[in-house]
Amino acid sequence: MTDYEDLRTEMVERQIRARGVSDPLVLDAMGRVPRERFVPDRLKGEAYSDRPLPIDADQTISQPYIVAYMVEGLGLKGGEKVLEIGAGSGYAAAILAEIAGEVFAIERHGTLASKASAALHDAGYTNVHIFHGDGTRGWQDEAPFDAILVSAGAPRLPEALKSQLATGGRMVVPVGADQRAQELVRVTRGDKGQFEREDLADVRFVPLIGDQGWEGELADMQTAPPRLIQHRPRQAEGLPGMIREHAEPFEDVKSAPLDMMMDRIGDARVVLIGEASHGTSEFYRMRSLITKRLIEEKGFTIVAAEADWPDAARIDHYVRHRETPPSEWEAFARFPTWTWRNKEVRAFADWLHDWNASRAPQTRAGFYGLDLYSLFNSAQATIDYLEDVDPELARIARHRYGCLSPWEADPAAYGHAALSDSFRNCEEDVTAMLVDLMQNRQEYALSDGERFLDAAQNAALVANAEKYYRIMYYGSRASWNLRDDHMFQTLQNVMNFQGDGARAVVWAHNSHIGDARATEMSRRGERNLGELCARGFGNESYRIGMGTDHGTVAAASDWNGPMEVKKVSPAHAQSYERQFHLSGLPGLILPLRAGRELDVATELSKPRLERAIGVIYRPETELASHYFEAELPRQFNEYIWVDETTAVSPLGAGRAKGLPETYPFGT
Ligand code: SAH
Repeated sequence: MTDYEDLRTEMVERQIRARGVSDPLVLDAMGRVPRERFVPDRLKGEAYSDRPLPIDADQTISQPYIVAYMVEGLGLKGGEKVLEIGAGSGYAAAILAEIAGEVFAIERHGTLASKASAALHDAGYTNVHIFHGDGTRGWQDEAPFDAILVSAGAPRLPEALKSQLATGGRMVVPVGADQRAQELVRVTRGDKGQFEREDLADVRFVPLIGDQGWEGELADMQTAPPRLIQHRPRQAEGLPGMIREHAEPFEDVKSAPLDMMMDRIGDARVVLIGEASHGTSEFYRMRSLITKRLIEEKGFTIVAAEADWPDAARIDHYVRHRETPPSEWEAFARFPTWTWRNKEVRAFADWLHDWNASRAPQTRAGFYGLDLYSLFNSAQATIDYLEDVDPELARIARHRYGCLSPWEADPAAYGHAALSDSFRNCEEDVTAMLVDLMQNRQEYALSDGERFLDAAQNAALVANAEKYYRIMYYGSRASWNLRDDHMFQTLQNVMNFQGDGARAVVWAHNSHIGDARATEMSRRGERNLGELCARGFGNESYRIGMGTDHGTVAAASDWNGPMEVKKVSPAHAQSYERQFHLSGLPGLILPLRAGRELDVATELSKPRLERAIGVIYRPETELASHYFEAELPRQFNEYIWVDETTAVSPLGAGRAKGLPETYPFGT
């Protein structure tokens, strides 16, 4: 270490002060930053020599003198907010961080950005933020900046960067129409918004490549906004190390490698994709990407969600361009609205709508709801249907379903009332309704099979929901099982309706999709959709789980409460999530079924805690309310990890009821 310090002092005197750099803040900073930490290991011995050195991705760390000269050109006094374009090794960013208050540095090469972030972190800098992306457009969210340093040669002055300068702010940038030589220019923004330009020196930099720079391969960032790189430990040991070794890693959901997963899914007929919360954007987006591929490449035509049938029918009407309108005009307008009524689902629905447009009606992919909370809407939908096809039975239906109507505002209260003798139990009425409908099945289905399926599903839903609310009072086990049985029946009904070869993707919470036999649920006598599919479809069903460590989530604090964006606490020390977090990867896909991953699967088979966030999230009592015990490799066939996640973007639910329009979510 002492060696390096001596070398550094010598460098400052001979290469920098001697050449005319005199700003004490700059000289001081140059004397403190350990340059050896920012060069490749094999070049550490040359860290203080008077020249640029090669770093990864064919880039260079600038000569110390030129860094000092440019930083001096920025005229920093201390405490400023500074932007650097072209973070490279992170060295110049460290010099800036010694003087300025906060430094934002953008690098277009992901590998360099990660390394720079790690080196800065290891050297103890906490006021530098490294972003991966195209820096020529600057960083609008953090603008204005007191100073901007551009560490690569631009063909002309980047306009976006000028506009992000604060009044009195300075930008130092190499500019030249020839990629091999530039003029180092200082631009100062005056108090009337005018710009003053000074030429400082002749220099030679690697090219600035991007939207407002030279043309070139946009590497792996395309047009996405810059993304913050967080330092991750490089060497994970034990289970986290094994996870890392077998993982198919990704930086960003968009760029997740799905080809190998598609191979593993093979010919499965039912692919269940679970999520660890109902309000996490990354889970919705990842699920959409996988689902698109299943539809495009493997002929899946059913998307079945943990959503109520009549609401989902509204989406289905839209995505399949159907003529007969469903009974619900406003899909998912009731609590918890954000779970399906959000931008992520909307983007998927729009995609499916377009995908289906050019396909024959029978081959279009539809959207179906498996859940049973829409007791009253489903009753109404059944009556509406009968009005059209069988007015006499509609009259009877109205009478029978009337038994439930006192409880419309609070179906759970029905369950409670039905326990006492003083209220009429509606079981017979709702069952009779379903039986009557099924008896006329052939006749009704002849005129329109799709509409009959819809009505029969609604009638079945009413019958199951009536029972659900009634038995809820005897304990959660029976009602949980009834609900998942209903989901499984519904899935089968839809698949049977489509006939042999029907393939379905299921979207639901991990707690419904991971095989219940691998969790503490089974000890409570609970089964779920994942288990029923595993038993019913065997290896033709495939379960994918998803999890996260920290970030934000959309959830309520109480049932029927407003949606809040809540902070997700870092995962519990005894959890699977902690192990995945310690792998140090921002995102990964981990196959659990194949033999190759034996060691990691064996290690993961030791039961641990797993977190489940539903529509309610209570971080205050997290361990008791949100963790359960599981055996991950039996629960899922593979697991997708996104270390840091963000809340879904809900859509407003304000549109007046009963207004037909093309799009189910309104605006
Ligand atoms: N300041 C760096 C020097 C890096 S060389 C250091 O101290 O080590 C210039 C860097 O600019 C290269 O790493 C190159 O990949 C990067 N770069 C080029 N075009 C870019 C762009 N449009 N946005 C962000 N970085 C860019």
